[in-house]
Amino acid sequence: MKVMRTIAEIRAELEPARDGTIGLVPTMGALHAGHLSLLEAARSECDTVVMSLFVNPAQFSETRDLTAYPRDEERDLAAADDAGVDVVFAPEAEEMYPSGFQTWVDVTELGSVLEGEYRPGHFRGVATVCLKLFTIVRPDVVYFGQKDAQQVEVVRRMIADLALELELRALPTVRDVDGLALSSRNQLLSPEERERALLLPRALATGDPERALDVLDGLDVDYVEVAPFHPPVLAAAVRVGSTRLIDNIPLEESQ
Ligand code: AMP
Repeated sequence: MKVMRTIAEIRAELEPARDGTIGLVPTMGALHAGHLSLLEAARSECDTVVMSLFVNPAQFSETRDLTAYPRDEERDLAAADDAGVDVVFAPEAEEMYPSGFQTWVDVTELGSVLEGEYRPGHFRGVATVCLKLFTIVRPDVVYFGQKDAQQVEVVRRMIADLALELELRALPTVRDVDGLALSSRNQLLSPEERERALLLPRALATGDPERALDVLDGLDVDYVEVAPFHPPVLAAAVRVGSTRLIDNIPLEESQ
């Protein structure tokens, strides 16, 4: 497995791979079984698997959230290697946002509701970094988790709107045995907070926003809403202590 830090390096590295299919799995690291499910799908479907490892400052609206985000590159590289990744792209922030950077992609409507309402600028940061990664790697297939259903919807819209030549694959949410959706942020929860966080999947399992809100009674709830995505989902965001968690369940079988 090769680790590339610059755009020039990864472009040169991927040149010979362009005869076959290239799969890209964008991540912010702190890899868990959710990420691994994406890497596994990419490994089985593509000739070359690229994983990006970049904690994207542009998608964090709060500095505290960005600083607290868990980072362990050594462990992530070992996990990526085990998962059969061919190339990791792990740039510094300056490589992606050089001085003078001022070009942004804004998926205006989808990016401003739900998560977008509580995290202004978040999806602008997501769309921009994804487009830049797509331009650098030029993948045939990109892999995303349904755990971040609105992110999938935003990126899918951007791909359609800008006529990008790539396929998006969204894979089901991987959960812990107790039902909590795996998230890099889970490691920031104390045991007591984790116990309370379990109300989130339990609430969503009702499949109904009002019943879900009843289950979440006592938690700091940002929203619980049915979102008209593909498929429609019941989505929620809650704060447990200083950690903000999101989750959703599809309301139709087809993903
Ligand atoms: P992140 O590192 O949090 O930006 O996530 C990278 C990718 O992994 C995104 O496409 C996420 O939706 C996906 N992902 C995160 N958590 C899970 C999970 N529990 N199940 C499936 N995919 C996930």
